[in-house]
Amino acid sequence: MRGDNVFAEIKAAVDIAAVCRDYGIEPDRQNKALCPFHTEKTPSFSVSREKQRYHCFGCGEGGDVIDLVANLEKISPLEAARKLDMNYGLNLFETPKNDGKKRLGTSVLESKKRRRKAARTEMKTWADGAHDDLCRKRRALFAAGQDCAYADFLLDSLEEDPLGFRAAYGSDVSALLPAAPPPPPERD
Ligand code: ZN
Repeated sequence: MRGDNVFAEIKAAVDIAAVCRDYGIEPDRQNKALCPFHTEKTPSFSVSREKQRYHCFGCGEGGDVIDLVANLEKISPLEAARKLDMNYGLNLFETPKNDGKKRLGTSVLESKKRRRKAARTEMKTWADGAHDDLCRKRRALFAAGQDCAYADFLLDSLEEDPLGFRAAYGSDVSALLPAAPPPPPERD
């Protein structure tokens, strides 16, 4: 769950000892302080910087930095997490939205790339086929002694700019050139 991640990130980013000091709890060299949760004369509130947890041997209160703020402020752990996020400038609660947008952006870009690549492949396949058709017709016209200038022009245009060619002439090239007339009947 996203919420758990934010909690974990806050616990990793915020030092519980610093938060204690923010609330006027000053742990001594043994990391003990007077407990803010019950009245006492000798410190039994203990802070572990290694574990990033607090525990009171007097009243049994204990937990992590988010529990500490929640209990001190009498607010929910989520509110405490938001408070720490804001006070320490972490902005972890805003990050997921931006992350989501970035991920979406990337995937849209990726699929656009894929579509462009597919379109290029499709265009190349079509252009190769159209080129073959035109060449075949040109050979037939040439063999029949017909003028091949228009066929040459079409072939040049196709080679130069397949996309423009298809836009101008359509994808069906078979009708662009006249069929070669049948060879004249032989006479005796
Ligand atoms: Zn206590």
